[in-house]
Amino acid sequence: MQPQPPRHPIRKRRAAALASVTVLTLAVSTSAGTGHLTAGAPGTGTGPAGLPLSPALTPCMISGATTVQMSEGIPTNGGYARSTGTVHALTLMVDFSDAPGEGNALDRFHEFFPQTREWFRTASYGRLDYRPETPIREWLRMPKPFEKYGVERGAPFDPGYRQLVKDIAAAAGPGVDFRDYDLVNVLMTPNAGPSALDTVLSVTFAGNPEAPVANGVAIANVSFIYSRQDDGSGTYDTTGYRVLPHENGHVFGLPDLYTQEGGAAVGHWDIMSEDWGANNDLLGWHKWKLGWLDSSQVSCAAKRGSAEYTLTPLTRAGGPKLVFVPLDGHTGYALELRTRGGNDEEVCRPGILIYKVDAEVDTGQGPITVHDARPNSDGCTRSPNVQTELSDAPFAPGQTFKDPKARIRIDVTSADLKGNYRVRVTRQ
Ligand SMILES: [Zn+2]
Repeated sequence: MQPQPPRHPIRKRRAAALASVTVLTLAVSTSAGTGHLTAGAPGTGTGPAGLPLSPALTPCMISGATTVQMSEGIPTNGGYARSTGTVHALTLMVDFSDAPGEGNALDRFHEFFPQTREWFRTASYGRLDYRPETPIREWLRMPKPFEKYGVERGAPFDPGYRQLVKDIAAAAGPGVDFRDYDLVNVLMTPNAGPSALDTVLSVTFAGNPEAPVANGVAIANVSFIYSRQDDGSGTYDTTGYRVLPHENGHVFGLPDLYTQEGGAAVGHWDIMSEDWGANNDLLGWHKWKLGWLDSSQVSCAAKRGSAEYTLTPLTRAGGPKLVFVPLDGHTGYALELRTRGGNDEEVCRPGILIYKVDAEVDTGQGPITVHDARPNSDGCTRSPNVQTELSDAPFAPGQTFKDPKARIRIDVTSADLKGNYRVRVTRQ
């Protein structure tokens, strides 16, 4: 019998989720009356992704109430960084007198690059050209010791992080113009704070118009990366960078999919659910939300009756990728074909992944739930840090998903020699 994957690092992510929630509450409440998160200035890459809109898709563009701070709704609220085209990511390596950077600051940079840039290129089918930029190639020393900022898990933006952002802007000096960048990555020296095995401090403050201003723009979208997500399995060099695309996912407006129970709602099917362990991709819903799918690649099954659709593997560029079955204005079922390839290294049973999206459910509360085609099977993977139960969740040809209450039936009818699947959606 193989050992259980060490899941404790994932559970510890709870605190980071709470931090995001706390800060976003502040951002929303302080921007009331001035428009939701609109204070970002040009140059910070504000506004939703440039979604190609089609009238046929309108019933599938679900949305949440304004009280939802980080919603799965489409389109994404304004204030987050652009997720298509060329995105300039100011990347700073930061240290402290009580946690001095060890070795070359660029070695810290290379723990995350070029992998993060490649991850986004692959996930976006080349639609996001992510450019990490390092105008300062040494450790940027903060004026106060690390312990003075009060950084711990669940720490809110005020006062510690606000001070940190101010100090970073001041220390960067006139050589860095924050108007030139869409988002900021702060790569902390790994000796600042606890090991990620004990506590994950990495956190993102996103869409925050109340952030300190530098060069006339609010530093509204910042990801802070601490420690090393090294589970001791010997894979840090190939998988340790994955915390950064997760944190940057928040900068682009994506919520956390893991909950108090860890990754049990979505498993390893999205990097916003699990960013430890083998590489994974984003859900098709997130790719649509980020502007990485054309309207021709998305089908909206809103009408009564029966209709058939072809789906091509999500990892492969081009072709139909997503069928959405709306239930009402804020929820629906998404269907996509997941196979091993591209960023999806750990798919052990390919097939049609079916999940419910609820735009009214906030980050970290379970906005997405994957339906398991084989419940209580204990899954098909034993890869470290991969949620096992949902690893065999996809539906195979011949299998059927039913929601009797909503009178919806989804049949996976066939797979062809090219690896494409056919599904039939029936709405009574
Ligand atoms: Zn997160």
